[in-house]
Amino acid sequence: MSLRSAFTTFGFALDRRRLGIAKFRKLRFRFVSALGFHYLCTMADILESSVKYVPGVGEARARLLEKELGVFTVGDLLRHYPFRYIDRTKIYPIDRIDESMASSLVQFRARVTGVAYAGEGRRQRFSAFVSDATGSAELTWFHGIKWIEKSVEVGREYIVFGRPSFYRGQLSVIHPELEMVEKALNRTARSGMQGIYPSTEKIASALGTKGFYRIMCNAWTLARERIPDPMPAAVRSRYDLMPLAEAVGNVHFPQSPALLARAQRRLKFDELLGVQLSVQAQRSERLSRRNGFLFPRVGELFNDFFGHRLPFPLTEAQKRVIREIRQDTVTGFQMNRLLQGDVGSGKTMVALMSMLLAVDNGFQACMMAPTEILARQHFATISRMTQGMPLHVAILTGASKTAERRHALEGIASGEVDILIGTHALIEDNVRFSNLGYVVIDEQHRFGVEQRARLWTKNNRPPHILVMTATPIPRTLAMTLYGDLDVSVIDELPPGRRPIKTYHYTDAARLKLWGFLRQQIALGRQVYVVYPLIKESESMDYKDLEDGFESIIRDFPLPQYRVTVCHGKMKPQDKEESMRQFKEHEADILVATSVIEVGVDVPNATVMVIESAERFGLSQLHQLRGRVGRGGEQSYCILMSGDKLSRESRARLRAMCETNDGFRLAELDLRLRGAGDINGTQQSGESFDLKIANPTLDAELLQTARQAAEEILAADPQLESAEYRPLRELRARHAAGRKFDFSMIS
Ligand code: ADP
Ligand code: MG
Repeated sequence: MSLRSAFTTFGFALDRRRLGIAKFRKLRFRFVSALGFHYLCTMADILESSVKYVPGVGEARARLLEKELGVFTVGDLLRHYPFRYIDRTKIYPIDRIDESMASSLVQFRARVTGVAYAGEGRRQRFSAFVSDATGSAELTWFHGIKWIEKSVEVGREYIVFGRPSFYRGQLSVIHPELEMVEKALNRTARSGMQGIYPSTEKIASALGTKGFYRIMCNAWTLARERIPDPMPAAVRSRYDLMPLAEAVGNVHFPQSPALLARAQRRLKFDELLGVQLSVQAQRSERLSRRNGFLFPRVGELFNDFFGHRLPFPLTEAQKRVIREIRQDTVTGFQMNRLLQGDVGSGKTMVALMSMLLAVDNGFQACMMAPTEILARQHFATISRMTQGMPLHVAILTGASKTAERRHALEGIASGEVDILIGTHALIEDNVRFSNLGYVVIDEQHRFGVEQRARLWTKNNRPPHILVMTATPIPRTLAMTLYGDLDVSVIDELPPGRRPIKTYHYTDAARLKLWGFLRQQIALGRQVYVVYPLIKESESMDYKDLEDGFESIIRDFPLPQYRVTVCHGKMKPQDKEESMRQFKEHEADILVATSVIEVGVDVPNATVMVIESAERFGLSQLHQLRGRVGRGGEQSYCILMSGDKLSRESRARLRAMCETNDGFRLAELDLRLRGAGDINGTQQSGESFDLKIANPTLDAELLQTARQAAEEILAADPQLESAEYRPLRELRARHAAGRKFDFSMIS
């Protein structure tokens, strides 16, 4: 059987076409839109109709909402919740606004005393000077000037709403929202709380904050009478849940803080329940089968390796995890295990020893790595460690040449190859295993739970699966994301490691940094210099890297310093060659993009310099840092950034300097991102589509939802009865991990 056909038979989504939930929704809503507005007015399920029919939206904005926010339908729009609220009844005197309020939104009432233009062309800006009885402020716009200059009238009084900043003690607001006082006073205030919606730059310029508020009002007016509540009455009363329509109404237009809190609790509960229903159903289905391969023997290979070839004693944590895997593979159930271990904790060894176990029991094993470099490295390490053993290890990647490819394919099909290591080339159709019993997936950040679970659902004899990740996941999140996985943790680093020292510098310290690198290189150590690579701005990033590379070559000249470079756009052979040079200490400095983020192991490297560190996420920074500190020497991580940093970036960099603990960082990361940050939610939420619940912050509610899901499934495992059937949609919406895509990885 080929791994690919195994994956696909299990419904494992392998390409974008098959994953496309978004596509599916697009089609669904095209269909609905085709029926037109007339239908909309009469149809029961207005929540399913296109958002373009909401007054104030229309075709163009609908396309934007779709593209930028994944909002297709009226229901989607109503599920686009505010991430925070501001009190629009509160108006501050200018002298009460101080630096502690920077970065929150405030409102004040002031008269325009004058306007000014500065700069030219693209750098043009427009300022309005305003004052009230207590002080003055400057309002500044950098774009949309044509429009704003028309709406600002000297001598008139406005309500100014925006984010305060201070320059030499002077209050200033960039791009504030202005509203004429008369109009503002007419605004129906209700509780005075106004939702602020997660948005993107494009949406903000098309709609503005206020615009979002307006179309939300219109959507609510359309739908308010037609929001069915899927929650059975018994569950609702048992867990004290507000009716759905009331919750939707209050989350957008809170009647009071107390009602808002109840509304949020209800909506979070729905999401978490949906996820729990999905993962628990998967789990019970898996456990209802007893079709796992059995690995009862601890045989020659394992014993030989353990007894004679281990290059170092295993840590207690490594031993424990190997034991857990052994226990899993003699039960008759198929193993589905997530192995979490911080960078450098020695997961590869666990992978190898558990693969030996499989081979000892007559099965083939394979190990999939996310990048070519990493696959080659695993192949080299494992071949070296098992040299001379009666064990046949082969490699297969996208870059394998004909001979290597043929060797791997034939060996795997005939059963001659015991362990196959590779990239996602392993799941191509032509890779046919004769007897695959065990699969290890390394560093698989994006592996969705549903796909993982589906590895087994449709097949009689699925292989055991070990997924290894160095992105530590807080327990609560693991429970949500990986409800169907058993989790092992390596919570111990091999002995003798010294904590990495981390520092944050700006460009002003560049000379000092270079001096430090020279010192380290003089001591015989090696250095990584990493540049960010973010898809949207690829060419720009390459320019950064190229400029950086050139200046490093200039400042670190041959023959004293040997510099090499490695990035995603290079040919695989070239990448490999450059990694080899670095590995074998033929190069002192490796300039790279985040290609090296995962897995690369060069114990002699002691300095990791991360350029534009503010552009990386916390877990990425931590991963990168994990490339050093692998030998016995003191290692350093230097975070370089510009002077101007957002509050979040500053907090991220500070956290990196304060701790080496990946779990703490991961937890903090989730908190920092919050629910309002679109990119953040896409990252942490990509596999389970949570809009309002945050499994870390809402840990308690998660437990409650888990319990509710257990009760519901005990009463009606298939959600068949009239009472529970409506929950199916909730389950489908939050079915975790449906966006996995191999092509995104390497
Ligand atoms: P990761 O968990 O990040 O994949 P690796 O498996 O690459 O970590 O291991 C990191 C380094 O630690 C490697 O150089 C490996 O040889 C070494 N190592 C692993 N286990 C031990 C151990 N028990 N004692 C000492 N060194 C170890
Ligand atoms: Mg690794």
